[in-house]
Amino acid sequence: MAASPDVVVIGGGLIGLLTALELASRDVGVLVLEKDDVGFEQSARSVAAVNLPGRTSNDSPSILRVSSDEWATFVDRWGCSIDLNSEGWHIVVEDEEWIATDRATWAETAGYPDNETLDEAAARERIPQLQGSFRSLDVRPGGHVDAIMVMKGLQIVAERLGVGIRRGTLTTGFGISGRTVTTVRTTYESIPCGTVILAAGIWSPDLCDLLGFHIPMQRIRAPAAETGPLPSGAIPGFLRASTFGARQSRNGTVRITGGFRYSAMLHDLSLRDLRDLRVWAPAFWKNRKDVSLRVSPRLLARELAASLASLRGGKDRTVVPQGFDPTSRPRDRRKQLDDLGRLVPAVRGARIQRAFAGVMDLIPDLQPVVGPIPGVENAYVSTGFSGHGYMYGPGACQAMARLIIDRDAGLDLDSYRPERLAGSLSMRGQLF
Ligand SMILES: Cc1cc2nc3c(=O)[nH]c(=O)nc-3n(C[C@H](O)[C@H](O)[C@H](O)COP(=O)(O)OP(=O)(O)OC[C@H]3O[C@@H](n4cnc5c(N)ncnc54)[C@H](O)[C@@H]3O)c2cc1C
Repeated sequence: MAASPDVVVIGGGLIGLLTALELASRDVGVLVLEKDDVGFEQSARSVAAVNLPGRTSNDSPSILRVSSDEWATFVDRWGCSIDLNSEGWHIVVEDEEWIATDRATWAETAGYPDNETLDEAAARERIPQLQGSFRSLDVRPGGHVDAIMVMKGLQIVAERLGVGIRRGTLTTGFGISGRTVTTVRTTYESIPCGTVILAAGIWSPDLCDLLGFHIPMQRIRAPAAETGPLPSGAIPGFLRASTFGARQSRNGTVRITGGFRYSAMLHDLSLRDLRDLRVWAPAFWKNRKDVSLRVSPRLLARELAASLASLRGGKDRTVVPQGFDPTSRPRDRRKQLDDLGRLVPAVRGARIQRAFAGVMDLIPDLQPVVGPIPGVENAYVSTGFSGHGYMYGPGACQAMARLIIDRDAGLDLDSYRPERLAGSLSMRGQLF
């Protein structure tokens, strides 16, 4: 790679790394700056359920459709293992109001919008692992990949393609001349750049603020746990219910996270949220039974210190922490495991061998933010995947690389334009 990279990518998660690979595969010199280790925040903690090609596809080559195609051919294209499971998505129908919204969103946005609804008897016949009682089961084309393997694999490909990755390097600010970013400042040095891409997950708004662009993002802490190894085939593909989402890895461990409706999702409030209270408050109120609000003293202290420093004219006092490793509540994971065990007896009494949490980047309309940052000539953002970064990632990263190299994303990015965030935004009916 040349001494001064063509593109600096901030964030070594799935989105930053895969965008870097897309660029490097077309001979662009790329440097990735990661404040911790690759995948440390959302990307390696993910359940990584993905949609895969089905019988029918949406007409336009959407980000979601391209992503489905890319996951199906990932191993051939990049030559790294991802442990793709394609046994399907299985959504337990318990709540008619929620499933109606979910089905509508699915039909409208999914690249491959197949959906088969099985009644309880038909579901049990096809998937004998499912016991307990439920109304019906929606089956969709998909499965999951192994998030840790994906992140490891991407690093190997990055090395092969000459992508530089600087771990433990916190981006603190930018050198700007007129409307152009000239350097990316880190705790160690200033790095000259031709183009910069912000792919910093939940911290993207803090970096975008420095470039004069506001992203109304909420940080949502999702609990996650991993059981010890269970007999293979215990969980069919990706299984989702109101209180949990679960998948089994090839080594037998089952990774469990929050479901579509359960207060195990914590909203970590900070000063940033006060700016967007108007957008969020009605949705919080409507879903108050399912949402827990928390103030994070650590984040609040950092925000206050950074605000005071900037009032005093200080530069680069960033609110973005290193080693941010939130936890989940034991009672939440116990409930999730118990509920999963009622549906899938093979999981009953399983030992939890690892408990953790991951913080997701929620945008009010639950659509990612992908495109040029308004008002800046050479800065782009790819963030706000709202708990669906694996589903959207490959398509979004490919579109971003094309946008930068060809000036044409090759896909319709209209719904993801950063500018839309400046208009009147309302929360999508489905909270998560
Ligand atoms: C528990 C859990 C389950 C999930 N399940 C699914 C699922 O089933 N399907 C699905 O599609 N999605 C799922 N997701 C969401 C998906 O994992 C994310 O959308 C995706 O990983 C986001 O990738 P990212 O690269 O944008 O963010 P991240 O992985 O968070 O990466 C951003 C990186 O930027 C770095 N960074 C931030 N600020 C700076 C800075 N100033 N300087 C340097 N580096 C910086 C961070 O350290 C981080 O590594 C899940 C997420 C969680 C937490």
